Amino acid sequence: MTGGTTGGGTTGGGTTGGGTTGGGTTGGGAAGGGRPEVAVTPRTCVGTGVCAFYAPATFELDERGRVRIATGPGEDSAEDIGNAAEACPTQSITLSSTGER
Ligand code: SF4
Repeated sequence: MTGGTTGGGTTGGGTTGGGTTGGGTTGGGAAGGGRPEVAVTPRTCVGTGVCAFYAPATFELDERGRVRIATGPGEDSAEDIGNAAEACPTQSITLSSTGER
C-alpha cells in the first residue's frame, strides 16, 4: 500500500499589491515653532468666522462675534494661519514672520 494524498491544497493566489497609494494630505505640522506673529483688529472684523475655520487654535470669536486670538491649547500650521489671513474679507488679520529676534 503506497500512496495516499500528495500535494494539493491551494497555492498562491490571493490579492497581491494594489491598494491606494499616495494621495492624502501631505506636509503640514508645525515643525519647530515657525508660527508667524499674528495680530487681529476686532474693530474691523465682521464675524464671518472664516479665520476660526481655517486656524481654530489661533483665532476665535468672542461673545460679540468679533475675532480674537485664541487662548486654548494647540497650534495651527503657518499655512493654516496664512490661509485664514488671506480668507478674511476685511483684512482684520495681520501676519508678520518671526525671523528676527
Ligand atoms: S475672517 Fe476676518 S472678518 Fe471673519 S471673523 Fe475672522 S477676522 Fe473677522
